[in-house]
Amino acid sequence: MSIRRHNHHRHGSPGTVTDPVCGLQISKYATTVRREAGGTTYHFCSAPCACAFDAEPARYIASIR
Ligand SMILES: [Zn+2]
Repeated sequence: MSIRRHNHHRHGSPGTVTDPVCGLQISKYATTVRREAGGTTYHFCSAPCACAFDAEPARYIASIR
């Protein structure tokens, strides 16, 4: 029996994700600011957070693993 593991967010509430830049918990349905990196979609509370992610994506991806 094999189990597929998802390697990203491990938060309890469905639909809630962590903004990797500022650490804010946001609903992925409430924000339209998102980026894709390495096959994973990251959600942000605001455009400035997404811009910070664009500048150094690896740094923020590492911080939420
Ligand atoms: Zn943010």
